[in-house]
Amino acid sequence: MPAVTDTLGRPLRDLRISVTDRCNFRCTYCMPKEVFGNDFVFMPREELLHYGEIGVIVRAAVSLGVKKVRITGGEPLLRKEIEWLVRGLRKIDGLEDIAMTTNGSALPLKAELLAEAGLDRITVSLDSLDDDTFRAMNDVEFPVARVLDGIDAALEAGLSPVKINMVVKRGVNDADVLPMVEHFLGKPVVLRFIEFMDVGTTNGWRLEDVVPAGELFQTIAAALPLEPADPNYVGEVARRFRVKGHPLELGFISSVTQPFCSDCHRARLSADGKLYTCLFASEGHDFKALIRAGADEDAVRERLIEIWQARGDRYSEIRSDDTQDLPKVEMSYIGG
Ligand code: SAM
Ligand code: SF4
Ligand code: SF4
Repeated sequence: MPAVTDTLGRPLRDLRISVTDRCNFRCTYCMPKEVFGNDFVFMPREELLHYGEIGVIVRAAVSLGVKKVRITGGEPLLRKEIEWLVRGLRKIDGLEDIAMTTNGSALPLKAELLAEAGLDRITVSLDSLDDDTFRAMNDVEFPVARVLDGIDAALEAGLSPVKINMVVKRGVNDADVLPMVEHFLGKPVVLRFIEFMDVGTTNGWRLEDVVPAGELFQTIAAALPLEPADPNYVGEVARRFRVKGHPLELGFISSVTQPFCSDCHRARLSADGKLYTCLFASEGHDFKALIRAGADEDAVRERLIEIWQARGDRYSEIRSDDTQDLPKVEMSYIGG
């Protein structure tokens, strides 16, 4: 089966799968409590794609050229026996890389099981090493020490190198950038700085709160000797550097100040089975309805081809005051 390309010539390579819209954190930039409060209604369990249904979609996507899958959410480790999904995906011929993004809170319990099931790589989100700042950002009083335990558990389970995602917000945790670099200098981890993005419509995004990746680079380069690391593959979103003489690698993800839409090979599947061709899309394509109406892998493949061939998304390249007001789905729903 030849690889499928969109209207801008971009192939489909990566699939991000959100397995739940629920989370035990309320990060202020993602699921602010004022919106995701006690009375917020999450998806009923029967609306979530079953692992078997996810498998059908992934097999069809792999037959079209997808090489890499990332399991995300919401918090993916809240989904019951998530290691079974990993185990199932591992059996798919042609799928080269299975990764997961997690807040790390359950990793001390789950890291070993995930590694045994065949997970290749893990990304843990961690916005500060300062306990007060971290608790304020996750907004559920979760202590930073337990996320650090989760990172250690992942390293011990062999899920190395562990990536660490830090979303930087001006005036909130930008002072924690250098301490993070210094803390992880001697560890085989990749520390990635992510610009605060205008995903969804509930996180009160303002351009003034974004710390440009270039500015972060300057701050770190003024303190430590950095050298470029080669990009792993075309379409890699992070600009990568090494700190000379140390195992630590740094990545700068500048989705706001230097968009990378022209290399975007990624589709996203929401927990209830809607496929989105852009993080900033307002509408998805319903694969759960298709599969529950009896569609098999071939029919799913045909629909994927149709959708991908019609794709022309480049939101970050055309971001402006006007695009701010467009309807967009939430990050916790679509999967970061
Ligand atoms: N709960 C998991 C976690 O936090 O790692 C997985 C889902 S979370 C939506 C995936 C990633 O998106 C996290 O690294 C998070 O920091 C990032 N994220 C969420 N909202 C964001 C925003 N407004 N701007 C930039 N990154 C964001
Ligand atoms: Fe939860 Fe992850 Fe969103 Fe934080 S970023 S609220 S951990 S889904
Ligand atoms: Fe891809 Fe959309 Fe992000 Fe551009 S804005 S890089 S098309 S997800």
